[in-house]
Amino acid sequence: MKFETKAIHVGEFPNLEKGGAGDVVIPIHLSSTFARKEIDKPTGGYEYSRTGNPTRDALEKKLASLENAKFALAFASGMAAETIIGLTLLGSGDHVVAFDNLYGGTRRLFSKVFEQNFQIEFSYVDAVNVENVKNAIKPNTKLIWLESPTNPLMKLCDIKAISKIAKERGVLVVVDNTFMSPFFQQPLSLGADIVVHSTTKYLNGHSDSIGGAIMLSDEEIYNKLKFNQNTTGAILSPFSSFLVLRGIKTLALRMKEHEKNAMKIAEYLETSPKVKKVFYPGLKSHPQYELAKRQMSGFGGMLSFEIKGSFQEAKTFLENLEIFSLAESLGGVESLIEHPASMTHASVPKEEREKIGVTDNLIRISVGIENADDLIEDLKKGFRRIDV
Ligand SMILES: *Cc1c(COP(=O)(O)O)cnc(C)c1O
Repeated sequence: MKFETKAIHVGEFPNLEKGGAGDVVIPIHLSSTFARKEIDKPTGGYEYSRTGNPTRDALEKKLASLENAKFALAFASGMAAETIIGLTLLGSGDHVVAFDNLYGGTRRLFSKVFEQNFQIEFSYVDAVNVENVKNAIKPNTKLIWLESPTNPLMKLCDIKAISKIAKERGVLVVVDNTFMSPFFQQPLSLGADIVVHSTTKYLNGHSDSIGGAIMLSDEEIYNKLKFNQNTTGAILSPFSSFLVLRGIKTLALRMKEHEKNAMKIAEYLETSPKVKKVFYPGLKSHPQYELAKRQMSGFGGMLSFEIKGSFQEAKTFLENLEIFSLAESLGGVESLIEHPASMTHASVPKEEREKIGVTDNLIRISVGIENADDLIEDLKKGFRRIDV
């Protein structure tokens, strides 16, 4: 089955057996517990909804199929999924090599929880250069944690090359694939071991649920993750599972539109006299354009740019848009715009922010699926309010 077909059907084939109602959409199973006929056998395979729920199961089947993984687990949030990966695969004294351009919340989880409370050691490296990753691996390295493209500077790392090095050294590779969604990038087929998503973003796609997911094919690790998920209770609710199932059905359509609009906006921004620099992997000016073409089947809907001027110009521009909502998050049908230094990346110390390029004049856009001309008009309106 091809991607679009799996997105619609996997996990939701109608039950036409005797007793099955034949729903073409999986029902929202709200029951917290499931009755049985015999004391030692759950009749329908379910016992208690934290451990297993039919709606969540359907979503997990669909999620696994989209990443070409054998298994998937759906979590209460992207951060819950990341936490369970850490709790399952890391212990005191272990070392992790991480891309220095990670999502701000991931960085906070690593430094304020894993490092402070569990004495796990982290090396943050510029993974754009594969050698930096290779050189950072130590005898106690257990994981390499990647994002590609990164947030908010759209830097890529070569997942295939890094996974090859990791395999030789017996280190696992985790890729946060939230930005591209499985429609544009499939890290497991590039050699990564584990994929993590904030389903809050493109997978759900409508900015109306918080959720996370892990996809992988290693059964032993899957069983450990599942055990820890059930033990800690970091599960996705039946209603949110339904919302993500519903969102995924249009993932392919949405991603194509996000990309089309993002390309138009990136090209417009490159011509604007109010813009210093544009970061979008679909532009020929992107330093990793060739890798982007090779590693992904599209360029996605996220971009960022440096406005000419400083914090004040960025602020005036951002506060004078109408269609773009000034908001954190991304991946919904509506266009969002934000100021990483004061919003999504405020938890990263200023010195570190400057070092990785999250400057005070940097602006990030999650391009929605509105009409691109309306979006560009809105940006022009904002630019007219600044004088640089
Ligand atoms: C949003 C996000 C997360 C965290 O997910 P939540 O659902 O907000 O917990 C992790 N990684 C990336 C890249 C994200 O964009």
